[in-house]
Amino acid sequence: MIALALLGGILLWHRQVNDGKPADYTGFAMSTLITQSAYGEKAAEAEIELQRRLQGFENRLSMFINESDVARLNAAAGKTPVQISKETMRLLKRGLELSQSSEGAFQLTIAPVTQLWGITTDHPQVPSDTELTQALALVDDKDLILDEAAGTAYLRREGQAVDLGGIAKGAACELARETYEEYGVSGAVLSIGGNIYVKGEKPGGKLFKIGFRDPTKSESSYLASFQMRDSVLAVSGGYERYFEQNGIRYHHIIDPATGYPAESDIVSVGVFSVDGTTADFMSTTLFVWGRARTLDYMRRADSCDVIFLDDKGMLYVSESLRPSFALEETHQNTPVTFIAREGAL
Ligand code: AMP
Ligand code: MG
Repeated sequence: MIALALLGGILLWHRQVNDGKPADYTGFAMSTLITQSAYGEKAAEAEIELQRRLQGFENRLSMFINESDVARLNAAAGKTPVQISKETMRLLKRGLELSQSSEGAFQLTIAPVTQLWGITTDHPQVPSDTELTQALALVDDKDLILDEAAGTAYLRREGQAVDLGGIAKGAACELARETYEEYGVSGAVLSIGGNIYVKGEKPGGKLFKIGFRDPTKSESSYLASFQMRDSVLAVSGGYERYFEQNGIRYHHIIDPATGYPAESDIVSVGVFSVDGTTADFMSTTLFVWGRARTLDYMRRADSCDVIFLDDKGMLYVSESLRPSFALEETHQNTPVTFIAREGAL
């Protein structure tokens, strides 16, 4: 049965569970399309509840929503600490821990630069060098001060600002895990702007198959696929959001070393982790790092698995993903190199 549901002013498609089919739900939040497909008696309810929670999540974290924790934090930069919710505190704390491990490539305080470019807004522009130099001088995660006991966050210098765009979608996957568990969902696939969370499996024990996009083709064209369960796949690529000016393409992942879109030799990178925030952080960071450092990471890292496509059309895949990995029929000629962890058998 197909019914139209109106929620939070958004028109959504919603199909009830019947005949062992999943309940499907399409919504919009965090400037992106969100699709859910879930199994379980209360799957449809879980999906509506998750959509509601995602809206609340965005209302707390978006730098574009005036009353959000993050917008208030940014507006009070250099002036006064602001009270933030427990959830925002948790995410900022986790974000800071992660950004420290990126050696400068990932900065929560990148906002002065991303706001100048406005790539995710309706009015993108190429900033002047002077503007960029000024904005870059404000980017420093060491200036984000969290006081857990007081429940406050503070940015030391006026003009500084936080942009959680690099981890928010992955963090939202954790909200999905909690919600699905509460509602006894046995299996589900959630896609938030191409970041995928898979919970459990299909009825009968079949695993969900998840595609890794061919960025040169349409959104439904896949290079490869994976059998996945209880994991998040976060994907970053310069093709996701960009604008063009004088024949040059400017995308949304900024290299904090230059203030310009990262000139990466990676076209698209996907990171698998049980922890959505980590996966999202890592995919953005690996894109900025580029091929050589990403390969090095794949040999060393113990918590994340990686797939990436480089600018020469080569696909690199963590060895541990090999059993669940398959090239799509249309891409059988793509050269694939599996990368093993050092010390692994
Ligand atoms: P993702 O799509 O997860 O790779 O994240 C890209 C988003 O993260 C951008 O739209 C910005 O909001 C934000 N961002 C861009 N560059 C950086 C960076 N170097 N560090 C942290 N966040 C960034
Ligand atoms: Mg990310």
